[in-house]
Parts: sequence; structure tokens; C-alpha cells
Amino acid sequence: MKSLNIALVAHDGRKEELLSWVKFNQDMLSQHKLFATGTTGRLIEETMIEDKSGVHFPFRGKVTRLLSGPLGGDQQIGAMIAERKIDMLIFFCDNLIIQGHQNDVSALTRLAALYNIAFATNRTTADMLLTSSLLNDPNYEIQIPDCISNYANRKLK
Ligand code: PGA
Repeated sequence: MKSLNIALVAHDGRKEELLSWVKFNQDMLSQHKLFATGTTGRLIEETMIEDKSGVHFPFRGKVTRLLSGPLGGDQQIGAMIAERKIDMLIFFCDNLIIQGHQNDVSALTRLAALYNIAFATNRTTADMLLTSSLLNDPNYEIQIPDCISNYANRKLK
């Protein structure tokens, strides 16, 4: 399987849900490079899994932590998407409240859609993205939509 750069972000109201998803998909996620906004990343690194062989912290030291989302972290991830450094964004946003950094949230979701990366805002879609058979296809590449080069090269008088 090709190793992907996966960005993980959760608003406070959905952090528990993201951590539960991360635990559920621990084996799969361990095969990829993880990035996260500050607090989400810290909580993922602190995630503890207990099994027959004891207690593990499978993501300790394994997440590249950016700034906290409202302090610029969402924008950092957006910039990485525009630079094609992120293949997949899992963004559990709280749809019941308006965020103080709502503009950043909108900007991030806009860039994820524009650059055609794999993008999930809920758990079911995130599960399906991570288990897609396309992840095992060495010839599958994210296609950059024509509208991007068309826009970059647009004629101006
Ligand atoms: P946080 O940011 O992980 O630093 O809490 C999430 C967000 O974008 O609100």
C-alpha cells in the first residue's frame, strides 16, 4: 500500500468521536504519515490502547503537529493541500455551532474540495476512504482538476 499523507482535524465537540475512529483504524492509520492541528494531534499521540499484551500508545511521536486550528493550524493544513503535500483530510467539524474561526474552516474545506483530495467530514465516509481498494492500486493518482491550471493561466488584459 502506498503511504499517504493524512491530515486529521476535529473540533472540540467531535474530538472524542475522532479519537474513537483513530483507535478503530489504528492498524490502517499506522501505515500512513499523519498530520494534525495542535490539540487534535496531541490527543491522538496520547491515545492509549490496552490489549492482552499490555498498554500501548501507538501514535506517540508519530503525528506532525501543526498550530492549533483556531490559531492558524487550519490554514497551515490548507496551505499544505494547495502545495499537494496532503492526500487525505479527515475533518470532524462541529456542525451544530459556528466556530470563532469559521472563515478558516470554510477555507480549509474549500481547498480540500478544489484540489480533489480524499476528504471526509464524518465517520462512515472516513472508514470507507481508509478501506478503499484504490489505496492498493499503485497506478492510482489524485488528479488535479483542469480548473486549477486554467485559472492559473487565465488571460487578463
Ligand atoms: P485543534 O484545532 O485540533 O487545535 O483543537 C481544531 C480546529 O480546527 O478547530
